[in-house]
Amino acid sequence: MAHEHAEVVVVGGGIVGAFVAERLARAGTDVIVVDPTPGGGASFGNAGMLVPSYCMPMANPAVLADGLRALVGGDSTIALGRPVTRATLGWLGRFGLASRPGRARRDAGALAALASGAVDAYAELADTEGIDIGLRRSGWLYVCGRPGALSSQMRAARQLVDLGIRHEVLRGAELHEREPGLAGGIAGGVLYPDDASLDPAAATQAVLSSAVRHGATFHRHAILDVESAGRGIVRAVRTAAATITARAFVLAAGADSRRAGRLFGLRLPVEAGVGWSLTLPMPNGLVGQALIGADDHIVVSPGATTVRVTGGMRIGGRADAAADLMAVQNLRTAAERLLPPLRDLPAGTAWRGARPLTPSGLPIIGSLGRNLVVATGHGTLGMTLAPATSRAVASLLTHGTAPFPSRPRSGDPS
Ligand SMILES: Cc1cc2nc3c(=O)[nH]c(=O)nc-3n(C[C@H](O)[C@H](O)[C@H](O)COP(=O)(O)OP(=O)(O)OC[C@H]3O[C@@H](n4cnc5c(N)ncnc54)[C@H](O)[C@@H]3O)c2cc1C
Repeated sequence: MAHEHAEVVVVGGGIVGAFVAERLARAGTDVIVVDPTPGGGASFGNAGMLVPSYCMPMANPAVLADGLRALVGGDSTIALGRPVTRATLGWLGRFGLASRPGRARRDAGALAALASGAVDAYAELADTEGIDIGLRRSGWLYVCGRPGALSSQMRAARQLVDLGIRHEVLRGAELHEREPGLAGGIAGGVLYPDDASLDPAAATQAVLSSAVRHGATFHRHAILDVESAGRGIVRAVRTAAATITARAFVLAAGADSRRAGRLFGLRLPVEAGVGWSLTLPMPNGLVGQALIGADDHIVVSPGATTVRVTGGMRIGGRADAAADLMAVQNLRTAAERLLPPLRDLPAGTAWRGARPLTPSGLPIIGSLGRNLVVATGHGTLGMTLAPATSRAVASLLTHGTAPFPSRPRSGDPS
């Protein structure tokens, strides 16, 4: 078996591992990214929103109620995959504990701090790499069909003001002026002007390409085993093709982090939150603004020549082709209800991905071994939080501390 060596091995080349590898390589560190399909996980076909405004964690009393409805099989925007495993039940128990009133607001501050600066970080990278990542700084518009949905969205927006997140309320004519294709009879909308969107696959490739330009290399295999040197020190990771030794290791395996973590002797409370997207070819200008349909929880993100509809949250369970088909059909129907001109578009390309969910909604970014840093659990916000995560990981590897509290918190024990 071949032997390779690097200063740092990064396990996982999604947006999180890519940013970590890029930052380390740029600082002159010798890095190997170990991943069978870099950029092919959740970072490929997601909604591409950079959304400091979305920093209220999923772990809050309202979503908990929704989750309980899902458990008993009622109508819900959140569903449980089947079969429901003990790991998923354990995760749900921790999610319940993390959903105490008050905690979500506190954690929103930590997420907003991690999210700030993300848009500029991507813009700078796209500039230096000369790669078009489809960055649009036109904000994110929550469209609320029902007056009740608008009131709760306005309440949510007011809670974010203290965190420096600006919003504008739009009604009637103003709303249709901004997005003429919207269906009639919509109660109103809330625009977060500082949010942005991008093409997530192009952005991840841009980060990976910058990492390579600065000297990072890839080993395109999954890790199958971890070799310990004793006293909590990792000596090497093993794949089907090589044993790779390093001074330090970073685990950034997205929704597979629970499984990969076990190889390092960790019990990471990361559960897959499966969602779907449908990308449709779009005639110029049919949709101009990134939108979220608050009633059906779908995101519509326009690109230069396509429009992507994203949604769904199925926690745990096995891959199920029939459920995928149904979920994608539901996405399209909900999107057409929101934006009737989408009915004229031809069939698109469907995709399924898994968000790495922690019970609290806070990512796990921390030293969980003498020479092991974990960077995972970015949930619904991985594209948004990846730049700041890479700063924290670099600081942990260099100085042993992060520029913000980064250890897993209660509710996310590991
Ligand atoms: C439907 C949907 C919509 C979303 N929309 C948004 C959005 O608008 N904005 C936003 O900020 N976030 C969004 N997200 C969340 C975002 O996609 C994720 O948080 C982010 O992509 C996670 O990045 P990651 O690098 O941790 O994981 P991934 O991109 O999944 O990468 C993990 C990598 O680890 C590799 N790996 C796994 N196991 C091993 C192993 N044993 N050995 C080696 N490599 C391994 C995999 O091959 C993979 O490439 C969305 C997610 C979904 C599913």
